[in-house]
Amino acid sequence: MARNGIQFQKGLSLLDFQRLYGTEELCVAALEQARWPTGFCCPRCASHDYGIVYGRRLKRYQCRICRHQATVIAGTILQATKLPLTVWFLAFYLIGQAKTGISSLELSRHLGVNYDTAWLLHNKIMKAMSEREDSYVLFGKIQMDDAYLGGERPGGKPGRGSENKVPIVAAISLNNAGHPIYTKITPVSGFTSEALAKWASQHLAPGCAVLSDGLACFRSVTTIGCLHEAVVSRGRHPKDLPEFRWINILLSNLKTSISGALHAFNFDKYAKRYLGGYCFRFNRRFDMKEMTDRIANAVCCCKPCPERALRVAEVYG
Ligand SMILES: [Zn+2]
Repeated sequence: MARNGIQFQKGLSLLDFQRLYGTEELCVAALEQARWPTGFCCPRCASHDYGIVYGRRLKRYQCRICRHQATVIAGTILQATKLPLTVWFLAFYLIGQAKTGISSLELSRHLGVNYDTAWLLHNKIMKAMSEREDSYVLFGKIQMDDAYLGGERPGGKPGRGSENKVPIVAAISLNNAGHPIYTKITPVSGFTSEALAKWASQHLAPGCAVLSDGLACFRSVTTIGCLHEAVVSRGRHPKDLPEFRWINILLSNLKTSISGALHAFNFDKYAKRYLGGYCFRFNRRFDMKEMTDRIANAVCCCKPCPERALRVAEVYG
């Protein structure tokens, strides 16, 4: 059998990771490159003229125009962290390379930190990945589907009636050869026309050609100028329809990931963050070597978020 080029690509080996990000200095340099690729830029006045002040831990960049002092992590979701940057980068690496996802518990063992610390770090990184994904829209040919995800709790109702099941919409874009390129998977408030119209306006470019099953709410993608075609299954199981091959594979892999690595995950509370992280990895699967840098990039773009805000349940539109 032919080997799948994506699955068999060389990732970043642990040895390479150590060589690239094994010290605090290397991590600072990687963050500087991610945050200020053309050199330090003052966050207050945008000047590039600066001097360096060496502090106890991280060096400070002092703007020569407005005297503002900044570190490479100030103003990002890493702000005020007490953990070594090498621990953060190891987390970027482990989260980025884990094909079926990694749990906070597993992360805590690999990083040598307690569970609460690992949870916080994991959720901050997933939030950054998810926000990065929000800045893109899908375009071209799209397969779309609806699903309920998440586990039941002991004593709860099973199946669709379960109070922990989260309604989600998944879409995947295909290239001209019919191969999957990018995906978007997010929770929605329900499968209503309003929710789907809002979803489409946030995640699809006008002009997409959307294929879905006969669920009525998918017609709402036309409100933002997308074409829509519904394939009615006529007694066949939607899973058996070749038209939906890629979206079915995507959803099936996602379910494996959730049940395998994240059995303790509070999916109904943090679905958006988790799914955003999942899409982030999927959408960059062609270049596993770059994944750690890409996550560092996303983290640098994400604003600080206190723990209490991270622990509040997300609200979906
Ligand atoms: Zn300045």
